[in-house]
Order: sequence, then structure tokens, then C-alpha cells
Amino acid sequence: IAFSTLDLSSQVARALADMGFEHCSPIQAKSLPYSLSGHDVLGKAQTGTGKTAAFLIAVFEDLLRQPAPEERFAGEPRALVIAPTRELVMQIAKDAAAIGKYAGLSVQTLVGGMDFNKQMQALHGQFVDILVATPGRLLDFCERREVYLDQLEILVIDEADRMLDMGFIPQVKRIVRLAPRKTHRQTLLFSATFSDDVLRLAESWMFEPVSVEI
Ligand code: AMP
Repeated sequence: IAFSTLDLSSQVARALADMGFEHCSPIQAKSLPYSLSGHDVLGKAQTGTGKTAAFLIAVFEDLLRQPAPEERFAGEPRALVIAPTRELVMQIAKDAAAIGKYAGLSVQTLVGGMDFNKQMQALHGQFVDILVATPGRLLDFCERREVYLDQLEILVIDEADRMLDMGFIPQVKRIVRLAPRKTHRQTLLFSATFSDDVLRLAESWMFEPVSVEI
């Protein structure tokens, strides 16, 4: 299906056109009708399928459609994307810069292995709309009260199976507990495989999720 049939905002539609994206990839075609209408979506897709754009389009549309909260504080993102590795976080942030080129929303990253104080300086006192982060470093920032997750409108967990393999689930669980309840946020979870462990996590983190596979 063509992006032009999805009733996207002019900002996102224009950015996709600039990127040369005209038609949805299969994971986008299957997930966007649900994610754009506010459902939680559990998506089974590997890297290379266009899953990043699938969740980023939903994130930008959600934030552009909902008015920003009247009272906002620094360090309170409206959307959070958690991914297992620094490389993945950087790729997601790059894609977000392209898809969000006309959206006027701020995207920030937090990753382990980079200088903590530099990241703190970059983030401190900033209004962040979309935060893309690895779990450990994000938790550090939450614990130091530089980041608060209570205003999250949309939470994306990317590569949940790799997060399990890498032993990050305890951190992700703590992050999810800092976010609004699952009935008060939208949650999108992507994984290349749907193991029993992934499905169990999805059940505890998601509200009546729609499952899509390609
Ligand atoms: P991903 O699976 O998110 O790593 O994306 C794989 C590649 O496909 C990336 O280089 C994207 O820029 C590209 N891509 C994603 N969606 C589309 C689309 N609808 N049309 C053309 N290219 C796309």
C-alpha cells in the first residue's frame, strides 16, 4: 500500500517522499494500520524489513497528533525507543532525523560506552520529545533524576529477543516500571523471533496487543 493512502501528517508524508519511500514494506503495511490507530503492536520482523520506519512513523504521528502536555519539564520525553546496542540506537536516531525532518520534535540518544558527563551535559535541562537509548545507560540517567519517564505517551522496545540474549531484561523491566501503566501508554514491541520468553514479556508490558508477522 502507498503511504499516501495512510492519512499521515503532511510533515511525515513530505519526509518520506524526500527519502524516496512511496510504498509500505510488508511489516509497515501490516503494523501501521494498528499502530496509527493507537493499538499496542507486537511485530515479528528482522532487520532489513523496514521495521525501524514502521515504529518511527507511528511515534511521529502519535506525537504530532496529540498536543504536547501543557506543563512540560526538561528530561521528560514523550516517546522512548529502547534498543540493545549503541549501533542500533544510532541507526534509529538517524532514521528518526530523516522521518522527523519537518516535525519540529527533538530526538536525543543515550548510549553506554560514551562519556557519561558529555551525555549529561547534552541532555541536562533540555526538552526532549523522543529519546532513543540502550537500557543500562537510560537507567543510570533515570536514577540520577536527569530523565523521567512518567510523561511517556509511547514506548518502543526494539529487538526484544536480542535484549533477552544480551541479559538486558532486568534493566528493561525496571525502565518499564518507571513508565505510565500499560493502559495509559502505547507500546510497540519488535522482535525477530517470538519465543515463549518474548511472548511472556509482551503479555506483561502490552495492553491487548495486535500481533503482526511477515
Ligand atoms: P530496517 O529494517 O529498519 O533496518 O530498514 C531497512 C532499510 O529499508 C533501511 O535502509 C530503510 O531506509 C529502508 N526502508 C524502510 N522502509 C522503506 C520503504 N517503505 N521504502 C523504501 N525503503 C525503505
